[in-house]
Amino acid sequence: MDTIKIIQGDITKASVDAIVNAANSQMLGGGGVDGAIHRAAGPDLLEACKKIKPKMEGIRCPVGEARITPAGNLTAKYVIHAVGPRYSFDKNPENLLASAYQNSLDLAVSHGCVSIAFPAISCGVYGYPLQNAAKIAVSVCKRPEYKALIIYFYLFSQEIAAIWMDEMDNTKNIQKDRL
Ligand code: ADP
Repeated sequence: MDTIKIIQGDITKASVDAIVNAANSQMLGGGGVDGAIHRAAGPDLLEACKKIKPKMEGIRCPVGEARITPAGNLTAKYVIHAVGPRYSFDKNPENLLASAYQNSLDLAVSHGCVSIAFPAISCGVYGYPLQNAAKIAVSVCKRPEYKALIIYFYLFSQEIAAIWMDEMDNTKNIQKDRL
């Protein structure tokens, strides 16, 4: 049985093995949830990010991919830095968002994590439409290969939490209808 929980709150407070950061490709911090995670984790997180070898000039993590580092002062063991698409800028944002979730989950599994917390990747300044983002996020997290993980979505606003809850309810009904 898959375990997916929705919490309205601050992801830096999550008690999990891995916290996912909605990072940018440079991985040197930024605004939004990225800034909050770096502030809570302290300077060790930035140092760990700098150790990730850039793939090309300044790009430590291309869009749709993810990188893992230790988590500094956070209670989590790891921070997984996932780079989602900028909705109106990147081509094929659906595939890129799905692969940001998938790559994060794969890193969590390969590092022996039991629990993982996600923010709403790309749903802030990157401008992803919330309903569409929820559909992609929930469908990737429900794949059978991740069913041993306890997956939390930490959603900052009541509006986003409600949209994710609706999506969870919709997919439950779809599964029931198919029985
Ligand atoms: P992106 O650049 O991928 O759009 P943002 O950080 O701008 O990333 O926003 C992603 C989501 O994270 C937004 O819904 C934003 O409200 C939310 N967010 C911001 N701070 C936090 C936090 N401390 N915990 C959880 N979610 C947060």
